[in-house]
Amino acid sequence: MAVVIGIGNFKDSTENQHCWMCKKILPVREVFCHNCDSIQKMNKADYFARLNIEKTLDVDVDLLEKHYAALSKALNPEKFQLRGITERKYAAQHLEALNEAYQTLKDPLKRGKYWMVLHEKVFDDDEEYQELPSIQELKEDLSNASKPSECDLAA
Ligand SMILES: [Zn+2]
Repeated sequence: MAVVIGIGNFKDSTENQHCWMCKKILPVREVFCHNCDSIQKMNKADYFARLNIEKTLDVDVDLLEKHYAALSKALNPEKFQLRGITERKYAAQHLEALNEAYQTLKDPLKRGKYWMVLHEKVFDDDEEYQELPSIQELKEDLSNASKPSECDLAA
């Protein structure tokens, strides 16, 4: 299932990440530039990617705690006090997103809800999932239910 994404595979060049400071090309979703160590602007990483753990409902909680501790330490505002305002802003945004991701993933109930939200998006984008009968049925049910005539009948 793992898809290796090369630079040439991006649909949209805006998905290509350049370090805002030194302009080097970075892997997408890197928080720090490997070249100049500056923190990068906010990205659209999902919670699992943000905490650098496997995307599964059965989260390895020890690993989650370990990665959260290391990442929150790396993003500690004190570390950015001597940096410019841009880096302080980016660090604060990353830290906020990290905390949100951590609070969600460590709680089995919140994690389950997030998992649903995450996969609804995947179903919309991914043809492989569209072909699953259960998903198609679900989608039909949903689209039927949203028709005004159905609502009238139900009323
Ligand atoms: Zn850089």
